[in-house]
Amino acid sequence: GKPVCECNTCFGGPDCSLFSPDCAADVDSGNPLFLEPFWMQNAASSAVLVSGWHRMGYSYNNQNSISKELEKYIRKLHSVVGNAVTEKRFIVFGAGSTQLLNAAVHALALDNSTSPAGVVATFPFYPAYKTQTNFFRSTDYKFLGDTSLCKNVSDASMNIIEFVTSPNNPDGQLMKAVVQGDNAKAIYDHAYFWPHFTAIPAPADEDLMIFTLSKFTGHAGTRFGWALVKDEIVYERMATYVDINSFSVSHDTQLVALKLLKAVLEGKGREIFDFAFGTMRNRWETLSEALSVSNRFSIQEIEPRYCSFFNQVRGPSPAYAWLKCERDKDEDCYTVLKTAGIIGRSGTVFGSGSRYVRLSLIKTQDDFDLLIRKIKTLVSNEDGFK
Ligand code: PMP
Repeated sequence: GKPVCECNTCFGGPDCSLFSPDCAADVDSGNPLFLEPFWMQNAASSAVLVSGWHRMGYSYNNQNSISKELEKYIRKLHSVVGNAVTEKRFIVFGAGSTQLLNAAVHALALDNSTSPAGVVATFPFYPAYKTQTNFFRSTDYKFLGDTSLCKNVSDASMNIIEFVTSPNNPDGQLMKAVVQGDNAKAIYDHAYFWPHFTAIPAPADEDLMIFTLSKFTGHAGTRFGWALVKDEIVYERMATYVDINSFSVSHDTQLVALKLLKAVLEGKGREIFDFAFGTMRNRWETLSEALSVSNRFSIQEIEPRYCSFFNQVRGPSPAYAWLKCERDKDEDCYTVLKTAGIIGRSGTVFGSGSRYVRLSLIKTQDDFDLLIRKIKTLVSNEDGFK
């Protein structure tokens, strides 16, 4: 008889070739698998083989737990891309940027201050800032909420730590710190500050900037992030945090990261950016076109900008679409989409109203194609609403 095959949930039939129209487009998570084809093309140059006896110890030969070679490549990468100044900066490694977010809050909050530092971000923002800050329940800091609340902080001596996500997750806009003053400090989360997702107007030159491999090469599972830190004391505090928390980042992870950066910087060092920008730009144009005939749904506008990496003005290519249901202000947009077979992430998760939904554009091409299919059906059934 015929071999029995286990079909992917979206396909059926005897040889798994029949597309099931009931299959939902799952565009909830920010899993960056859009880069998988690039690494398939570069399988040999990115492969790592480690013998069992290699790198067994706690530290490298220089008694350090950070690979100097990797540090060198990170500085080189930023100078090739032109997205961050690394001169006069210390580098801290973390298990993804996730570990470094709280390390930064810890480092910027003063010990033994009479009142805890207030942690803020501008709505809509990446929810981990709030989840983490509340979870660790330190006496040194507490999560306040939206930056607009800072105007109401009665205790003027309170230190404020602001998370600035640029470009922003969920809406892709380039951001600057809102809270100003001597007791305000900013953590710039630059997870998406790569030519894949945004024009790079100039190298970022902030006091504390956090980057991650996850949205750059797409290796989210490798769990590797780094922080560029200007102030030595803040750097020491962050390094101590990582040391106490996990005694440095896995050397296997550092080796994989080094191999990937070497592969990225091979040749002219442009291929991954051409691929990633090409893919994301294409997806954005396809989605925009599918929604252009809709009166019911809209997506965010991002201005074309000059990009110093590509040396030209370029259109938007964000990681996420920030979709809005236009009918009424309390509409449960997540459910509207869910009913139409599109699983997004509700705007309420990001502190916005329920009429917003985030759609991930960085998953696989199949995920994206399915999304477009569902969007087209949804829009064509719009029953003449004006
Ligand atoms: N910051 C932002 C804005 C993110 O969207 C993410 C991942 N979705 C992270 C940080 C954390 O990423 P990682 O820990 O994989 O570096």
